[in-house]
Amino acid sequence: MARQELNYWLTTIEFPTTDQARPLPDIADVAVIGAGFTGLSAARTLSKHGARVAILESETIGWGASSRNGGMVLTGLKLGVSQLKSKYGPELTRRMYAASLASIDCVEQIVNQERIDCDFSRCGHLEVACKQKHFDDYQRQAEIIEVEFNHKLRVVPRSELNLEIGSSIYFGGMVDETSAGCNPARYVAGLARAAMNSGAEIYEHTRVHSIERDSRNGEPGWKISTSRGPLWAHEVFVGTSGYTGTVTPNLQKKIIPIGSFIITTEILPKALAHELSPHGRMIYDSKNYLYYYRLTPDGRMLFGGRAAFFPENDHTIRRSADLLRRGMTYVYPQLRDARVEYVWGGTLDFAFDIMPHAGQIDGMYYAVGYAGHGVAMATYQGQKIGEMMAGDKPENPFIGIPFPGAPLGLYNGKPWFLPLAGAWYKVLDWVS
Ligand SMILES: Cc1cc2nc3c(=O)[nH]c(=O)nc-3n(C[C@H](O)[C@H](O)[C@H](O)COP(=O)(O)OP(=O)(O)OC[C@H]3O[C@@H](n4cnc5c(N)ncnc54)[C@H](O)[C@@H]3O)c2cc1C
Repeated sequence: MARQELNYWLTTIEFPTTDQARPLPDIADVAVIGAGFTGLSAARTLSKHGARVAILESETIGWGASSRNGGMVLTGLKLGVSQLKSKYGPELTRRMYAASLASIDCVEQIVNQERIDCDFSRCGHLEVACKQKHFDDYQRQAEIIEVEFNHKLRVVPRSELNLEIGSSIYFGGMVDETSAGCNPARYVAGLARAAMNSGAEIYEHTRVHSIERDSRNGEPGWKISTSRGPLWAHEVFVGTSGYTGTVTPNLQKKIIPIGSFIITTEILPKALAHELSPHGRMIYDSKNYLYYYRLTPDGRMLFGGRAAFFPENDHTIRRSADLLRRGMTYVYPQLRDARVEYVWGGTLDFAFDIMPHAGQIDGMYYAVGYAGHGVAMATYQGQKIGEMMAGDKPENPFIGIPFPGAPLGLYNGKPWFLPLAGAWYKVLDWVS
């Protein structure tokens, strides 16, 4: 059983190299903080519009969630359509749903335009129901989505579920053929290359320590202090997601960093892999404390979940490896003897309302809050905010929606309530 943190995706890829000795420029049009999907997508768009962009990354390209995720390029948002409609009304909900579909096209277009070799494939996703009442709700959801958003989902009754998944524990499923899968580490590396090819400069091992308003020759802008010296920029774009820290305190207070963990087996015999997932779909279940899983392009089972709520460290990774293995063999008893070769974790960003948010905070641009849908939505938001900063007026229904902080302001960016949230979700899964 693998114990040490080892991310399978990283064994399939070489990241582009950057010149570690190159000094930071004195001035940039835009300083982008974070070299994940959000920051790199924004940087690519801004550079294509002619801006001089410096990407500042405290670790290395793709080091955050962007190289650690399940590679599921998913339609929809974390909140269901009924919740969205009652919160935002039918028109804004329709635009949000359309944006979630457009975000998959956005990834596909970038992959094609930039020739990113990341196993992108429109394999569809399958949601599986852990309870009969969850399955009963699928029919209702599929009808609303077809009638109101002109998007077709296919409800799969329990009697036909064996055509979709080699597990007998679920009450039925729902397939969306529009979703896709990819190798996220290859994708983020390709996005970095694309940003560099369009003129953006990436500075790895460059931690931003502080950002202050500052004017230069009468022009308003920002003085940015980093571990590799200062930089002045006209604009700042923050793409730090679940790793948002004290440099942007007002953003940090609105983001809950939540740990998610993944195990990956040895390469499975072809017949077994086909039995587990005949169409190679991206699969997740209907629980709050959910499992998500898929086959990798080389035929391993990649199985993830919020096994611990706390972000990744040696303890949470070790514990998660055991819990996830138990979860995997519960779903797929056929994997009882499969060797687990990789285990790793990463940090997701949840807003208190579980919605994506983008726009400006304290004068800086940002996009955050993808709640496990970030492969597509982070790419999309990076592009849209980049276009907006370049002076365009792109469609973006997430700009300007209320961005709540913690109830009663009881949060300073240190998520003391995560054990309570974890317990609460377990209770919800039990009763709902
Ligand atoms: C285990 C796991 C599984 C997931 N599975 C899926 C999935 O299957 N499908 C899906 O759609 N989404 C999934 N997600 C979510 C998705 O990966 C994220 O939403 C997405 O990668 C966010 O991208 P990002 O660029 O905003 O942030 P990140 O990729 O997290 O990048 C943020 C970067 O900011 C840098 N940074 C932070 N502070 C500073 C600073 N002060 N100075 C400089 N740099 C800084 C960090 O080093 C980091 O590299 C998963 C996430 C995890 C952790």
